[in-house]
Amino acid sequence: MQDKEKNIPEGNLEGCDCSGESRVNFIQAQIDDDLKAGKNEARVHTRFPPEPNGYLHIGHAKSICLNFGLAEIFKGFCNLRFDDTNPSKEEVEYVESIKEDVRWLGFDWDGREFFASDYFEKLYAYAVQLIKDGKAYVCDLSPEATREYRGTLKEAGRNSPYRERSVAENLDLFARMRAGEFADGSRVLRAKIDMAAGNMNMRDPVIYRILRAHHHRTGDAWCIYPMYDFAHGLSDAIEGITHSICTLEFEDHRPLYDWFIEQLPVPCRPRQIEFARLNLSYTVMSKRKLLKLVNDGLVDGWDDPRLPTLSGLRRRGFSPASIRNFCERIGVAKRNSMVDVALLEHAVREDLNRIASRYMAVLQPLKLIIDNYPEGQVEELDAVNHPEDPAAGSRKIPFARELYVERDDFMEEAPKKFYRLTPGREVRLRYAYYIRCEWVEKDAEGKVTVLHCSYDPQSRGGSSADGRKVKATLHWVAAPTAVNAEVRLYDRLFSEPDPGSEKDGGSFTEKINSGSLVVLKDCKLEPALAEVEAGVSVQFERLGYFIPDNRQRPLSSAGPVFNRTVTLRDDWLKSQSK
Ligand code: ATP
Ligand code: MG
Repeated sequence: MQDKEKNIPEGNLEGCDCSGESRVNFIQAQIDDDLKAGKNEARVHTRFPPEPNGYLHIGHAKSICLNFGLAEIFKGFCNLRFDDTNPSKEEVEYVESIKEDVRWLGFDWDGREFFASDYFEKLYAYAVQLIKDGKAYVCDLSPEATREYRGTLKEAGRNSPYRERSVAENLDLFARMRAGEFADGSRVLRAKIDMAAGNMNMRDPVIYRILRAHHHRTGDAWCIYPMYDFAHGLSDAIEGITHSICTLEFEDHRPLYDWFIEQLPVPCRPRQIEFARLNLSYTVMSKRKLLKLVNDGLVDGWDDPRLPTLSGLRRRGFSPASIRNFCERIGVAKRNSMVDVALLEHAVREDLNRIASRYMAVLQPLKLIIDNYPEGQVEELDAVNHPEDPAAGSRKIPFARELYVERDDFMEEAPKKFYRLTPGREVRLRYAYYIRCEWVEKDAEGKVTVLHCSYDPQSRGGSSADGRKVKATLHWVAAPTAVNAEVRLYDRLFSEPDPGSEKDGGSFTEKINSGSLVVLKDCKLEPALAEVEAGVSVQFERLGYFIPDNRQRPLSSAGPVFNRTVTLRDDWLKSQSK
């Protein structure tokens, strides 16, 4: 087991196995042991249990891939269960988005969609059973007093003065809590375990509270709600879950999880197994922080392409396969660590490099006129759609006397190593001709407005007749047929690797990268790009991977909007070859 865990990447990702092959993780090993021991009639049944109080993020993707993946490996099942026990923070919008995201990621719960709220009646009956067995009591201590009685890590707690209430009195009070006779927060039902327990979670934890809040499914039927620790494990048991996989912060809750299961006549005894949650550099993952970014208008909704939410990653152009591959590569560990976001970006590059068709687009256009090219002529040149995939075929791109090239592919006073356009220099236009920059036009401020060039008609297709070489190949777009577009360049939302730590006392919102979104409104695309459908990623040659913005349907008359997923530069590969 130790060796397997050593494979798991730390923050710097050293030792990360990037073959993308599936590998045995320690959870698989534990399930194997259970199967060998003949537990659970040799069944494996997992669940993904989101609380519908926000949108799913890449951390949830890790949990989804793990839970659905284990079910697949062991030929079992995985349920989608909404842990909706906290009505004040939950909404139907979140339920719908969660389902959409799990489906998009490529997983199917085959109709096994459940809600903890569907078990409210059963959970209530379980609570009554605990009371009858002398294992739960109604407590009237105020929240402050409850805290004080609870003790500390060093000091044992004290028994509540209500702890020895009779079963009959407890049954009566609990029924009246349900009937709405008492004010919110005035009483709770607590498990009777051990106020001196070393594990604070075992010091008579609250299992029901009074809360008058409208629930997105049960409406106003209840004014008492079960606490998470009580509802979660018992919901697992009710569903016949065999392995309840959760993140490390629940390790200390496991004795309580087991305690409820042991006390009650449940149909199944699930085993809780913890793993390290995913932390990703240059972003935040806590729902509280994501909600703040959304509510304060610091981002453009839950699906802002800079957020680590699955809807944001989708809008940004991350493919489901790239996210699944990423989750596979980071593996599953027992120790918390930070994963470099460059690895996620590497995963999407790798996938899009394989599947994205290539096109030409100019983001910061500079007009270029070929003075010796016939006026009014437009010719169609052949361009391959994918250099490594002949099956992707080719397309025609129009070429004309007036073109656009990228402004930063030209320098009037070029340093030695600059091989692109400068007066007197010859370069290749991709799929087209050799051109030479002859002279430039400038505006009153001295800014270059037009490049005047000549072309070599013998170099059609991009190679010269006499074997003459050039050092640069530029992308371009023909002016008469160019499609105007808006392109949004996204970068990491935060300028610091661990913005959520707040160690320095500053709020994470102060660490937002002010350059994380650059909107370019005057971009020029080759005509074929106007036809790219929603959800289809493309490569703009030399610039990166882009996708039509999925909020722009139907396309506005101002032309298409493209989001940049990532540039072509792979920082992760670079860091690996150092
Ligand atoms: P909170 O408890 O603050 O609402 P949460 O992130 O735990 O947030 P849940 O909806 O409870 O949200 O999470 C659903 C499942 O996803 C849980 O099993 C949880 O352990 C898992 N999960 C959540 N965040 C991560 C993460 N960063 N890495 C891996 N798994 C995660
Ligand atoms: Mg949670």
